[in-house]
Amino acid sequence: MKNSEAVEKRRTFGIIAHPDAGKTTLTEKLLLFGGAIQTAGAVKNNKIKKTATSDFMEIEKQRGISVATSVMAFEYSGKQVNILDTPGHKDFAEDTYRTLTAVDSVILVIDSANGVESQTEKLMEVCRMRNTPVIIYVNKMDREGKDAFTLLDELEEKLNIKVRPLTWPIGMGDRFKGVYNLHEQNLNLFQVNKTKIAEDIVTIKDLSDPTLDEMIGTSFAEELREEVEIINGVYDDFDREKYLAGKLAPVFFGSAVNNFGVKELLDTFIQISPSPRGRDTDMRFIEPDDPKFSGFVFKIHANLDPKHRDRIAFLRIVSGKFERNTFYTHVRSDKKMKFANPTSFMAQDKSVIEEAFPGDVIGLYDTGNFKIGDTLTEGEKLQFKGIPSFSPEIFMELENLDPMKSKQLDKGIHQLTDEGVAQMFIMQPGNRKIVGTVGQLQFEVIQYRLINEYGANCRFTPRNFTKSVWITTTNQEQLESFKRAKANYLATDKDGNMVFLAETQFLLQMAEQDYPDITFHKNSEFK
Ligand code: GDP
Repeated sequence: MKNSEAVEKRRTFGIIAHPDAGKTTLTEKLLLFGGAIQTAGAVKNNKIKKTATSDFMEIEKQRGISVATSVMAFEYSGKQVNILDTPGHKDFAEDTYRTLTAVDSVILVIDSANGVESQTEKLMEVCRMRNTPVIIYVNKMDREGKDAFTLLDELEEKLNIKVRPLTWPIGMGDRFKGVYNLHEQNLNLFQVNKTKIAEDIVTIKDLSDPTLDEMIGTSFAEELREEVEIINGVYDDFDREKYLAGKLAPVFFGSAVNNFGVKELLDTFIQISPSPRGRDTDMRFIEPDDPKFSGFVFKIHANLDPKHRDRIAFLRIVSGKFERNTFYTHVRSDKKMKFANPTSFMAQDKSVIEEAFPGDVIGLYDTGNFKIGDTLTEGEKLQFKGIPSFSPEIFMELENLDPMKSKQLDKGIHQLTDEGVAQMFIMQPGNRKIVGTVGQLQFEVIQYRLINEYGANCRFTPRNFTKSVWITTTNQEQLESFKRAKANYLATDKDGNMVFLAETQFLLQMAEQDYPDITFHKNSEFK
């Protein structure tokens, strides 16, 4: 296949949601449409359920499930759709942020009763950093939820994006009648329908058509007419360019569990979503039709079997064509590497692939060479940008409990931080290791994995920091004075960059005021 054809054919996206909004259910319905699975229930929810704190194997097993469904590919309407899964649990938010670097657009699922929730806001912030195009699916319309207009206002306000409904709900909860497709001008009547895909769609070009009254009753018909008038008055026509620029999100209403409103969503997604986009590097912007292969690692997953230390690195292909058993340059180490068993991920099985194209995500077996953010090329020494580390929220000092095993501990914690499980900062004097994560669960995972995979016993002591910021300045004098004043709050990250660990947001603001020539960066990508 020619590269340009392969690029045009692909749609790589992620589904994001606050836990329980219906991400797993929607994913499953999309896969049903794509024929990638035959029955409902085939997609495992990758939620990490913290049932018993001591049950780490359970966590790991659940993480295992999430590997198997990390990338789900299927064909629909002549396109190859690649869905990258994102962990919903907030303690694994960093994993999700990084996965979002590998997608070209997202579908955001909202629970109609809960509206915008805490994870929704955080995830959208990450999307907005990159202007990732977003389609919104308001789920659970079969339940009593918020009024649709109120929801749209809430979305615009809290997510800082313009919205445009493309379907409109008629009633909700027990009185949910279906949706009117504003674009296609047809009526899709709701039926509780858990397995079948067929849907009843009635074309109603003119809303004054009395058929509408016959189908949904006069009071609903009247309400719909009024509401559609308001929508057409208040909202501009849908503008695809604005959507592609990440400025405007089309909104769909439905009920994923009833397979309702999903087909409209998928059909529109296929029509409007972007084909694989290029990515920026420290040298130049790489377009997907650049003939030379390039890609970056955005996720690394450890093998679940502790006897095998190998890991799987997930590589997003940006340009050219990736081929099996071909030498590529690992830019950071300047080593040549080839891969005998690159895998693609389908809903349930992994298979070895011969070639892969821009937009595809492949799994590479790794014996410890890869770090998150690494670039592979045909030789050019460029480094993809846009895979930053964000400030952790919980900080603990790592203490070695077994002096005979300090080498193992060192190796273990380095590898785990390379995998992106946590970030590590070194403080002086004494090269103290401060581990930072976004969730408590990671410390348990780290402790468990250090002992099981590396034989290293450790203890974590909480440290009173709440934020880490990277600092740069050209004012050497100010830097020296800052260093003297904040000696107990300075550290270096794993690449040797200087980091300020702040105890409170207020102290960070004070520092920003007191040292105007120092820049405090919220994420690691400031070069
Ligand atoms: P996730 O955490 O976002 O992956 O959410 P799930 O897909 O696991 O869904 C969470 C719960 O909501 C499950 O019990 C689903 O059956 C339920 N659910 C999903 N979609 C709908 C829907 O359209 N209507 C109703 N009433 N429940 C739904």
